[in-house]
Amino acid sequence: MSITGPFNCNSANVIYLIFCSICPYGNYVGETKTPFRLRFNNHKQTIRTTSQLQAVSQHFNLPGHGIDNVRVCLIKGGFRSDSERKASELRLIKKLDTLNNGLNRELSHLGAFTCLR
Ligand SMILES: [Zn+2]
Repeated sequence: MSITGPFNCNSANVIYLIFCSICPYGNYVGETKTPFRLRFNNHKQTIRTTSQLQAVSQHFNLPGHGIDNVRVCLIKGGFRSDSERKASELRLIKKLDTLNNGLNRELSHLGAFTCLR
């Protein structure tokens, strides 16, 4: 995995996009306060353990899919607060429509921002 641009795998306080090298609708928008590689390791773990609770895991365990099809892009960083980062994540989820045409499944973890749904 390589990340280009102003970010690297140790970047923290970022919003990232996970997408599938095969499907146009395999997009997932996420955010992390901790260094991205820790969050991404967690995603890889759920994919390897085929967690049925996770849409990302389910997708990359589809026939013909595997961890090698996972692509990742760090989109945005430098947020002044957790709430600013989460609000920005929600805007991207809505913009990319990853709830309907992607792998984002719920907004409950966004707490106060669910009113924007
Ligand atoms: Zn796919």
